[in-house]
Amino acid sequence: MKSREVQVFVRIRPTANFARHLIECLPDGQTVNIYHRKNSKKLQDSRKRQPSSWSFQLEGILQDVSQEEFYTRVCRRVVLGALDGYNGTVMCFGQTGAGKTYTMTGSTESYKQRGVIPRALQEVFQEVEKRTEHAFNVHLSYLEIYNETLVDLLSSLRGSSHQSPHSMVVMEEPGRGVLIRGLSLHPVHSEEEALNLLFEGEMNRIIGSHALNRNSSRSHCIFTVHVECRSRTLSDAKYVTSKLNLVDLAGSERLGKTGSEGQMMKEAVYINRSLSFLEQAILALADHRRDHVPFRQSKLTHALKDSLGGNCNTVLVANIYSEAAQIEETLSTLRFACRMKCVRTDPAVNERVDLAAQIKKLEKDVQMLKEELSLCNTLAKRPSITYESLSEAQLAEIHSQVQRYLAGSLENISIVNIRQVHAVFAQFKLAVQEQEQKVKAQLRQTYNLVKKDQSANTAAIKEWDIRSSTEDVEAGSTGVPKKNAPRPSSTKAKTKKLSEKQNQSKRRGEGSPVSRKHLESASKSKLHSVQTPEREHESQEPDTESQDTQEPPASEPFPPDSPPTKEQAFEVFKVGQGSKINLILKDNKAVLLERRSLLRQLSEEVNTAKREIDCTTATLQQHRELRGGQGQYLVMENEPPLQEAEITLLMQLRALKAVYRQRYEVLRDIKAEVNYCEHLVDQCRVRLLTEFESWYKKSFLVHEQELDITMEESPREEEDAEKGLPDEPSSESFYNARYRTLKRRNSRALVFTPVQRNSSGQRRLPPILPVT
Ligand code: ADP
Ligand code: MG
Repeated sequence: MKSREVQVFVRIRPTANFARHLIECLPDGQTVNIYHRKNSKKLQDSRKRQPSSWSFQLEGILQDVSQEEFYTRVCRRVVLGALDGYNGTVMCFGQTGAGKTYTMTGSTESYKQRGVIPRALQEVFQEVEKRTEHAFNVHLSYLEIYNETLVDLLSSLRGSSHQSPHSMVVMEEPGRGVLIRGLSLHPVHSEEEALNLLFEGEMNRIIGSHALNRNSSRSHCIFTVHVECRSRTLSDAKYVTSKLNLVDLAGSERLGKTGSEGQMMKEAVYINRSLSFLEQAILALADHRRDHVPFRQSKLTHALKDSLGGNCNTVLVANIYSEAAQIEETLSTLRFACRMKCVRTDPAVNERVDLAAQIKKLEKDVQMLKEELSLCNTLAKRPSITYESLSEAQLAEIHSQVQRYLAGSLENISIVNIRQVHAVFAQFKLAVQEQEQKVKAQLRQTYNLVKKDQSANTAAIKEWDIRSSTEDVEAGSTGVPKKNAPRPSSTKAKTKKLSEKQNQSKRRGEGSPVSRKHLESASKSKLHSVQTPEREHESQEPDTESQDTQEPPASEPFPPDSPPTKEQAFEVFKVGQGSKINLILKDNKAVLLERRSLLRQLSEEVNTAKREIDCTTATLQQHRELRGGQGQYLVMENEPPLQEAEITLLMQLRALKAVYRQRYEVLRDIKAEVNYCEHLVDQCRVRLLTEFESWYKKSFLVHEQELDITMEESPREEEDAEKGLPDEPSSESFYNARYRTLKRRNSRALVFTPVQRNSSGQRRLPPILPVT
C-alpha cells in the first residue's frame, strides 16, 4: 500500500434540536459548513455581527447512520487490513456526550446498537473461520489512560498478572513498534470469548469510575486486537502480525467551559494537556518539513505513535453534537479533524521471521537437496558420493594425498565433491604456510647465525634482515671475486667502490633505528674531545677473501680416497656452498673498513676543532688577565682596544664550538655504525665457520665419533684483526669458545650498544674530554 492520508469522518449525534442555521451538511456527503458568529464584546462593530462561516471537507459526513452502516463505511476496511497484516487504528474524538463511546463500544444491551469494537471482533472471527489456509492467533488488551496513569482494564481476569499501574511502561522495540510493557494480553479463540473480555473491561471501567471516583469520559481507552497469522499451506518461517487499535478518547471540551474545580479540574487539565499534545503531534506530522514529532510528551501520544505516524491504516472519527449550544466545541472538533486529514501514514505488512521455524525449514531443505543429489549420482553411476561433513579419517586421507602430491609421488588428486575440494585447498594453504615458516626460519638461521628469542628481538631481526638482504644484492651484483683481485686499500677501483659503499652505508645508518638508538644511549650531547682510533684495527681486518678467489670447481675437487685438509676444504667451501655468506662477510668487512677510516678522519676533525677551541680559550684568558691587571699599559697604538679583541675572540669561540658540536654529532653516528658493522662481521664470520663445519662433516667425515666434535674442529677464522684466515685447525677450540660467547651474548641482547662494544677494549675510542 502507498502512503495515504488519515481518513477522517464526522459523525453527528442525532438530536431533536439540530441547529440547521449553524450546521449545513452538503449533499456530497463530504462537506459540512458551520455558520457561527462568535460572541464579540464589540457588538457595535458591524463586521462582527456578520456570521462567520467555515467549510470542512472530509472523507464522509455521517448523519443519522446506523451502527452497522457506520461500521461498514468507516471501519471494515481497517479491520480486514489487520487480518492481512496491516496495523489499523480507529479513533473517536470529540466533546463529552458527542457519541464517542456509543460509536466505539455502543450499547452493551442492544445487539443492533453494538459499536465498532464488538463488530470488529465479530468480523475478525468470521474471517478467521473463512481463511482456512491460515492459522490465526488473536490476543486482546484493554488499556485506559487516566490522568497520565496507565490502567489495565483486563488485569482482574484470571491468568493475568496483577500489575500495579506504575509497572506499566510505554516502550518502543526496534522492528516491533510501540508496546506497553506490563499490559496483560489475553488469547481469544472465538467472538464470544473476545466479547467477554470487552465487557469485562467495560465493567472495570465503570467500577473504576464509581469506586475510584473516576469519570469515564475523562479517560482515554485503547482496545487492541493483536493478530498473528501464519500460513497453514506453506511451511514458511515468515508470518505476519498486526495490531488493531480501537480508541475512545477523553472528552475534548475546553477547560473554561466546564468550570471544573478540584479533582475535576485536575482531570480536565490532564485531558486537555494530553489532547493538546495529540494536536501538537498531529501538527508536527502534518508539517512535512519537521523531522521531530513530540510523541513522548504524553502517554497517549506515545502509545499511539505507530497509529499516528507509522505504517498504519488510520481513521479518525470526529463526533459532534448538532445542537446550537455546543457549536464552539463542534467547530473546535472539526478544526482538529481537518488537521488530522493532513497526516499521512505508510501502511505496510508487518512481516516477521520465526527463527526456530526457519532453521527447521532450512534443515528440511538441506535434507531434501541431499536426497535429490544422491538420486542424481545414482543415475549418473556415482553412487559412492556422500554429502555429509568429512570425517577425521577422510580429512587425514586428504592431508596425506596433498602431501604426496606436493612430494611428487601422487600424480593427481581426483575431485570427489565440493567438500573434498574445499578440504584439499585448505590443506594446500596449510602446506604453503608451513613452507613459509620454514623458509623464514632458515633465513633467520642463515643471517642471524644463532637462534634468538623471537619476541624479545623482533626489531633487531628486522634490522638484520634488511641489511643482509641489501648486502646480498650488492654482493650478487659484484659477483664472485676473481683470483688475485686487488686489495681494497691498494687500487683506485676498489677505493671508488668503497666510497660508494660508504655513501650507501651512511644512508642506511641515517635511517637505521639501531643506529639512532645507539646515538641516544651513547651520548648526552655534552661536548667531548676524541682521539683517533688505533690504525691497526681498520686496515688489518681479517681477510677471508684473500684466498677465496677461485671459481668453484666444476666437479668434485678431491679424490674420494684422500679427504682434504680443513684449510683446503674451507677454500672450496667459501666459493661453493658458503659463497653467499662469505660474500656478505666480505661486504660487511669492506663497509666496516670504510666506516673506520671515516671515523678516524672525523675524529681528527673534531680534535682539530677542540684544539682550536682550547687555543682560543687560552688567548681569551690571557686577554682577560691582562685587562684585569695592567691592561691599559699594554695597549699599543695601532691595536684595537682590548675589549674589542675580547669580543672577537668570544665570537670565534662560539663559532668554533658550533663547528665542534656539529662534527661531534656526525662522529657519534659513525661510531654507532662502526659498532654495528663490527657486530655484523662477527656474526657472518661465525656463521661461515659453523656452516663450513657442518658441510665438512657431511662431506668428508663418516664416523660418528668424528661427527661429535663439530664445534671443537672448526677452523680458525681469525684471532684478531691482524691475523689471516684460518691458519691451523688447532685454533678451533678458540673459535668455538668465541662462538658460544657470542651466542650467549646475542641471546641476551641482539642489539649491540656502543657501550657494550666499547668495553671490549681494542675497538673502543679513547675517552672524550669535556669542553666547557
Ligand atoms: P461520549 O462517549 O462522547 O461522551 P456517549 O457515547 O456516551 O458520548 O454518548 C452520549 C449519549 O448519547 C449516550 O446515551 C448515547 O447512547 C447517545 N448517543 C450518542 N451518539 C448516538 C447515536 N449516534 N445514536 C444514538 N444515540 C447516541
Ligand atoms: Mg464516552
